[in-house]
Amino acid sequence: PITPGVFHTMMEASAQAIYRERDRLSALDGAIGDGDHGLTMEIGWKAVMARLNAPDRPATISAMCEDMADAFLEAVGASAGPLYGSAFQTAGAAVADRLNLDAASYVAWVQGLSDGIVARGGAQPGDKTMVDAWGPAAAAAKAKLRESSAVADCAVAAAQAASAGAVETKQMLSNRGRSKKLGERSRGHIDPGAESAAVMLQAWAQVLA
Ligand code: ADP
Ligand code: MG
Ligand code: MG
Repeated sequence: PITPGVFHTMMEASAQAIYRERDRLSALDGAIGDGDHGLTMEIGWKAVMARLNAPDRPATISAMCEDMADAFLEAVGASAGPLYGSAFQTAGAAVADRLNLDAASYVAWVQGLSDGIVARGGAQPGDKTMVDAWGPAAAAAKAKLRESSAVADCAVAAAQAASAGAVETKQMLSNRGRSKKLGERSRGHIDPGAESAAVMLQAWAQVLA
């Protein structure tokens, strides 16, 4: 299962993956947005890791999620700030009674991330946003849970669905956020927020596999 220590390792892995992919994510945002998505996610994850490594750092997974939500919201002025603020808050609340996360709680946690983003941003599936990665990730993890109780299997299923979901956004017409005003010109480009979601889910799956 995912102990608080493993959870911390997962968060460190996603932070490092976002730093590595920063320029590629910003380039995706350059095509249909304002070109800062890699940078905004890097700023968010740096704030998160500063909090998770502070001397008075939180000890439980749900407390870590609460602090991650606050860190992201405070540090990031772009759309991703309130969206991931809401995501980590909702995900933390979904596992509030758990010391460790088994496969079912990991699935509930990923579902919480997706729910928090939808609650804050109001995007529907197909609107060409990060919801088109988080929604399929949560659904695939839940489906995998019916045949496997291994957290690694659920995490890999979620990551694969997020990557496929990000690719799917390429042919979508944007209906949310900055890229909406491009109309038909938003087609043919992967949504940067969907891609960064896949980057984070892949990093978590690699830690758990
Ligand atoms: P900004 O557009 O403010 O510069 P970012 O570049 O950090 O913010 O993030 C852009 C990403 O945010 C988009 O690629 C999209 O995935 C996501 N996004 C924007 N608006 C919404 C929304 N209402 N719901 C879900 N995701 C959204
Ligand atoms: Mg942007
Ligand atoms: Mg911006």
